[in-house]
Amino acid sequence: MTTFAELGLAPDILRALDEMGYASPTPIQEQVIPLALQGGDILGAAQTGTGKTAAFALPLIQRLLPFANTGTSPAKHPIRALILTPTRELAIQVEESVKAYCKHVPLRSLVVYGGVNINTQIPILKTGIEILVATPGRLLDHVQNKTLMLTQVNTLVLDEADRMLDMGFMPDLKRIVALLPAQRVNMMFSATFPEEIRKLADSILNNPAFIEVARNATAVTITQVMHPVHHERKRQLLAHLIKSRDLSQVLVFTGTKLGCNRLANELNKAGIHADAIHGDKTQQERIKALDAFKAGTIRVLVATDVAARGIDIEALPFVVNYDLPHNAEDYVHRIGRTGRAGA
Ligand code: AMP
Repeated sequence: MTTFAELGLAPDILRALDEMGYASPTPIQEQVIPLALQGGDILGAAQTGTGKTAAFALPLIQRLLPFANTGTSPAKHPIRALILTPTRELAIQVEESVKAYCKHVPLRSLVVYGGVNINTQIPILKTGIEILVATPGRLLDHVQNKTLMLTQVNTLVLDEADRMLDMGFMPDLKRIVALLPAQRVNMMFSATFPEEIRKLADSILNNPAFIEVARNATAVTITQVMHPVHHERKRQLLAHLIKSRDLSQVLVFTGTKLGCNRLANELNKAGIHADAIHGDKTQQERIKALDAFKAGTIRVLVATDVAARGIDIEALPFVVNYDLPHNAEDYVHRIGRTGRAGA
């Protein structure tokens, strides 16, 4: 397995990663970091949860290290990297990560987004910051107010470009790009690549490397645990785990309809409120079970793969593979019921 050190990151960055508990790079990090350290443009196909933030932020930070300084003059801290995101939530999250990665290097970062008083952002901008994370509209407000300068920007990141397109930010993006120095490194990330995104990439990126992480990779936000147990004692172990850890909203996958019913019955006998959904249940029965599961009135939902399609529960905390799926894709699909949207 590759380490962050082998990717060529500097000791001060490695120290921050170590403190954050990042043991090894995710697939997108492994691919993006070496290329971005060399200053190549990158077009990345990746969703949230793959570790894409660190994939673009770490090389960006490392390339700014020669400029890092503790000087107090704002002139010593021009904006050198601009990271654009579609939403304020993502902007905040990205800047928090940047700050954490910069813990041991004197580079300053700031996040600016709309919907809050612009005057609170101005004094911080005036002190000088190297890495700016922004939503497009608010960035342009600052440009118009002349409260920030983009003439020293040498790195541009467009995060979740397809969402920026959906939210109507394309004209803003074009205006912003026109304000940047031509000589710069560009990285663009998107989960999907409709025609307009490809056109945008063509107009912004310079001979980019296209990096795609397998769509069927599991999100890094999901902790996966295996419990070795004898076949006959699986049910007991499951009941034990649910009870002893006080788990609720547990989605359990079984291989057969029969096994699905049986497990739900046995859990109920063990005092754990459970219901089953599978292909032999009517649509009405399935909806009823799902609603009760979502509302928290049943603790465990036992399901087969087919019946589980379309289950979308916000913040579902636990998925159990009671019977292993037959292929890796089903496994990814099953556990992807949790860890959604960065949770
Ligand atoms: P992202 O896809 O960038 O939103 O990252 C998803 C989550 O994974 C964030 O909470 C990161 O802090 C975390 N993360 C990113 N890279 C790693 C890594 N190499 N090891 C462990 N956690 C990571």
